[in-house]
Amino acid sequence: MIIVMEPRATQEQIDKVVKAMENKGFRININQGDVMTVIAAIGDRRMFQPASVASFDGVREVKLIQEPFKLASRESQNEDTVVEFENGVKIGGLEKPVIMAGPCSVEENLEGLLEIAHSVKAAGATILRGGAFKPRTSPYEFQGLEELGLKYLAQARKETGLLVVTEVMDTNTVDLVASYADILQVGARNMQNFKLLKALGECGKPVMLKRGAAATIREFLLAAEHIMYNGNPNVILCERGIKGIDSHYSRNTLDLASIPIIKKYSHLPIIVDPSHGTGRRYLIEPMSKASLVCGAHGIMVEVHNDPDNAMCDGAQSLTLSMFDEMMANINQLIGRIDYDNNKALK
Ligand code: PEP
Ligand code: MN
Repeated sequence: MIIVMEPRATQEQIDKVVKAMENKGFRININQGDVMTVIAAIGDRRMFQPASVASFDGVREVKLIQEPFKLASRESQNEDTVVEFENGVKIGGLEKPVIMAGPCSVEENLEGLLEIAHSVKAAGATILRGGAFKPRTSPYEFQGLEELGLKYLAQARKETGLLVVTEVMDTNTVDLVASYADILQVGARNMQNFKLLKALGECGKPVMLKRGAAATIREFLLAAEHIMYNGNPNVILCERGIKGIDSHYSRNTLDLASIPIIKKYSHLPIIVDPSHGTGRRYLIEPMSKASLVCGAHGIMVEVHNDPDNAMCDGAQSLTLSMFDEMMANINQLIGRIDYDNNKALK
């Protein structure tokens, strides 16, 4: 940590900061400039609880040198994490981007889900998405089929070979969801549900953590840290847009810059959900392409066989034929991205 003192800080105030940090186990290096004094407190603040010197008299600013997250950071693991599944699907690193697709919610109509699953698989998806436990803003909206929905997803996996990603909303249902799903999704609303994150640390299955709608990148990575700290290294991050100033033209503001930022500071895979990121069907293809060019390890897209009558999020779901068309364009784009050199278009 770097502690910058006010120009008029007294020697007594400087000594007080130094003593407080030394008492916490930090080594101190003092740089006495002409105008102000800068104190470097050397030591791992993740190991020691630093003294709350920011509020001491005479302190102007406290800056962190190391990231506050550890297991998720490139400082502790430089190699990209690649999450691998038994059927050969890999997410992360220099692997080709993974395509997750499916309806927002698993609905009563099993045939519809199977039709979507077969169709997205034929177009190039390897993972089927679909919510059985739905976090809905209103209690009057469809809340999901719960275990029946998980059974439908398992049926779709059996018929298509697609892996299944589905949301888990609380600690009580972690074991149930883990018994059906290949990847457990934490929704944006639960990104800082620390009890849930802890339980997922212990669940033994990969977790896809969605960014909270008002979460900073640091908070996002610290939420991932909770899962890793509790024993699960297989965390996939998902950027899904944050609250912006314009909810008229788009539902959220998709933070594309978060992709290279997260890749710089973390080794975890990062995928993008352009459906929740924009809320508008016509924005999905451009944002999917942009995400992949920015280096995303994959995309998750809502697709429905009859979006106009979907129980949830029809306006941000592609039809089966729109998804086909988008995938044809994306496959061309993927062919032009130089994965060996990790990002840029050839
Ligand atoms: C979802 O992907 O089903 C979902 C509810 O998204 P989010 O948590 O990002 O709102
Ligand atoms: Mn949705």
